Amino acid sequence: MTPEEFRRAGHQLVDWIAEYVANVESRPVTSDVVPGDVLAALPEAPPDTVDDFASVLADVDSTIVPALTHWQHPSFFGYFPANSSYSSILAELLSAGLGVNGMSWVTSPACTELEIRVVDWLAALLGLPDRFLSTSDGGGVIQGTASEATLVAILSARWRATSGRVNNDGDTTKLVAYITSQAHSSLEKGLRIAGIGTAQTRIVAHDETFAMRPDALAEAVAADRAAGLVPFFVCSSRGTTSSMAFDPTPAIAEIARANGMWLHVDAAMSGIAALAPEYRWVNDGLESADSYCTNPHKWMGINFDCDVYWTADRSALLGALSILPEYLRSAAAAAGAAVDLRDWQIPLGRRFRSLKLWFGLRLDGIDTFQARIRDHVTITAELAAWIADDPRFEIVAPHPLNLVCLRVADRAGGDEATERLIEDANATRRVLFTRTVLDDRPVLRFSVGGAQTQRRHVRAAWELLQSLVAPVPAG
Ligand SMILES: *Cc1c(COP(=O)(O)O)cnc(C)c1O
Repeated sequence: MTPEEFRRAGHQLVDWIAEYVANVESRPVTSDVVPGDVLAALPEAPPDTVDDFASVLADVDSTIVPALTHWQHPSFFGYFPANSSYSSILAELLSAGLGVNGMSWVTSPACTELEIRVVDWLAALLGLPDRFLSTSDGGGVIQGTASEATLVAILSARWRATSGRVNNDGDTTKLVAYITSQAHSSLEKGLRIAGIGTAQTRIVAHDETFAMRPDALAEAVAADRAAGLVPFFVCSSRGTTSSMAFDPTPAIAEIARANGMWLHVDAAMSGIAALAPEYRWVNDGLESADSYCTNPHKWMGINFDCDVYWTADRSALLGALSILPEYLRSAAAAAGAAVDLRDWQIPLGRRFRSLKLWFGLRLDGIDTFQARIRDHVTITAELAAWIADDPRFEIVAPHPLNLVCLRVADRAGGDEATERLIEDANATRRVLFTRTVLDDRPVLRFSVGGAQTQRRHVRAAWELLQSLVAPVPAG
């Protein structure tokens, strides 16, 4: 491709994306393909001649787009939002255009220093404690996903608990971790990767709001210590994936401190709410946390992938992850003047992801993010009121922000009707809901977080749900 061809194709593609995002509402939310349809539409053999851009774009329209779930659709109420924005799409393009690898300071100084600056900015905008700033003993870094952040937290905790002697003469066989059944699956996966198996992971009981019970945590920790084991890691979720439950971080922090455990706080979805000062309660307890993460790539609209991980203890993180092969030595790093962010993450290579936050904060601005959060919280409260007014439905978990968990009330059919409702609603392709299970019963999750989602979309989706559940027989 010549520079001229790139210019032409690039303009065409930007036009295409603008059109796609602006009109995504006119499409069904989900596709109707069955497994293998897309494969069958693609030639088995790789191309032996080159195509022009127009024919590739035509295939995007005919083969790719019809087989998408449209995450940017305003009636996408499944999983969690994964919003994009024009500003961060542009930054993504610039990142690819610059084509730098920011594994070390010296491999592209701007890549490291812009990241340090924007991550500090985000900490200030979220109202995070000073112990997470780059000027403290801690600092923040962009990870691809919360799952990677979780693993980094676990490895830092493991390093600290074993005095850094893991894989040397350190002993991890006595380490025990504490989570609830509501914690994200990446906790179990991260623990497994770190060599902390199921037998060393305690599932702490939760209360009726699906939040960790600190008394149960204290009891489990005491029992493990009495048995000669070493409690080393506890995760407090602030906004669980299933039901957006908030573990009581301050009480968990006290137990963590008293027992020398690493406290990781996972607020991948809900932490972003703190951009609006009235929701700063999501940060409760962070002044005692060893690490914290939230995902600008969910509610905030900095397109995937962009998780930000902060730690108050840089030394444990560097102890766990630093590596210095000869070919990566630099005078700047050796003098302690430069930070090498490869030591803050699992992979070596790093993309220039901070451009996305920089563009987003400068081109969309904090007011845009705050307005979206406030809108969604307000609409969700209205939705909850509509549901409460219809005796055929019940709300099964607290809904302080932008997720409502509901089911069909028992007298209108209960669990079976709830399962059918989710299937029937999704079969219309006008909405997407996801299912979860809370205390052994199926639940419909109504997640309100799309960048284009407005009251009318939520209202229409609610009316659709109402139309799919039979009236309760009289008497
Ligand atoms: C979404 C989510 C995760 C996982 O996020 P990824 O960035 O996809 O790894 C973890 N924890 C919570 C609470 C989440 O909402």
